[in-house]
Amino acid sequence: MSHVLHRSLVQNYPTAVKGDGVYILDANNKRYIDACGGAAVSCLGHSDTEVIEAIKAQIDQIAYAHSSFFTTEPMETLADFLAARAPGTLNSVYFVSGGSEAVESALKLARQYYVEKGEPQRKHIIARRQSYHGNTLGALATGGNQWRRQQFEPLLINIHHLSPCYAYREQLADESDTAFAARLADELEQKIAELGAENVMAFIAEPVVGATMGAVPAVADYFKRMRDICSRHGILLIADEVMCGMGRTGALFASAQEGIEPDLICIAKGLGGGYQPIGATLVSDEIIQTLRQGSGFFQHGHTYIGHATACAAALAVQKRIESGQLLDNVVRMGELLQQTLVDQFGDHPHIGDIRGRGLFRGIELVKDRDSKTPFDSGLKLHAKIKAAAMQQGLMCYPMGGTLNGKDGDHILLAPPFIITEAHVDEIVTKLNLAI
Ligand code: PMP
Repeated sequence: MSHVLHRSLVQNYPTAVKGDGVYILDANNKRYIDACGGAAVSCLGHSDTEVIEAIKAQIDQIAYAHSSFFTTEPMETLADFLAARAPGTLNSVYFVSGGSEAVESALKLARQYYVEKGEPQRKHIIARRQSYHGNTLGALATGGNQWRRQQFEPLLINIHHLSPCYAYREQLADESDTAFAARLADELEQKIAELGAENVMAFIAEPVVGATMGAVPAVADYFKRMRDICSRHGILLIADEVMCGMGRTGALFASAQEGIEPDLICIAKGLGGGYQPIGATLVSDEIIQTLRQGSGFFQHGHTYIGHATACAAALAVQKRIESGQLLDNVVRMGELLQQTLVDQFGDHPHIGDIRGRGLFRGIELVKDRDSKTPFDSGLKLHAKIKAAAMQQGLMCYPMGGTLNGKDGDHILLAPPFIITEAHVDEIVTKLNLAI
């Protein structure tokens, strides 16, 4: 057993030695089709030569200049690129090294905004059950996934979890999408009334829920209603697009597909596409102006902020996606993937739901389709499917605890944006064998 500390302390993982487009090769030359981009990270596939050249060129110039002393050219260009494409007035970009840091930064920006605005009592954060916003303690406390939280409690206490917009499980049989969205909006209004609107700082949600639910988009109007309520009460809306953002759902920003302008957007994973560790928090002009006129200082920071090589890599990834019009492929291949999954598994007795948007698709496993009863969590079905898939040479992203942190299994698919029809076939064929 190697000395590398994995998540699993009892299992060995194969050694990845080479990336090749949508494939990863291990030390035994076994080929795995990367149908989940790791965890919705590798949006451009592996070993893209343009990105590699951009990284090499940047290292030749300078790799690291501490952000308290300098910006760098790739940092400035990447910020311009993102600000020009982000919804609303999200014109400032705070670079970090990953998704959890992006969420922590958003929460601390929100908090500091209200302190400097003279509303320091706004401390409460409203999030949703079965959500995941990162693994650092603040982000972990914000997420509502019981399985991840339970061993680490007590966590931050000013966080409240409401019902997720999870149509398959939460929408009533005869309830329209409009009525469902209205019911969830009422729940938010009630929680705000209970806490006192003047005490609430932020509402945070993933536009399309990834890891904890398996690619669940909200019903139409849900996010518009949430945006309206937040605006009416002066509550900041934070969109966590760490997983669903950067083109994964067919648009660069999933919030834009919902027709809303969040006050803060967190991105990571697909931003650097796995070529370098990078994340970012996009911040509205209103927040930045308040801080600028106040202390003039953001009371937060990490050593690797805006790492030049990471920014150069992310810029190269995003330019490749844009110049190659790869988001069109995300939409086309996403529809094909959905249809192929439905053709393969639509009548499967243990697959209850197939859903998602773009190249972000999830299937939910159930013991019984009519009652939607999950499998016994002791079976660890998701882990078994992952192992069987790896044997087949397929990387998919199965998760347990879909429902209450313990029960419920789903499989998330998030392949690179460069996949072809033949890859879609290969993914679904191998997934079928694994299941
Ligand atoms: N938010 C969401 C929605 C995520 O899916 C993740 C990672 N799965 C994170 C935050 C945390 O990102 P990281 O693992 O890069 O810290």
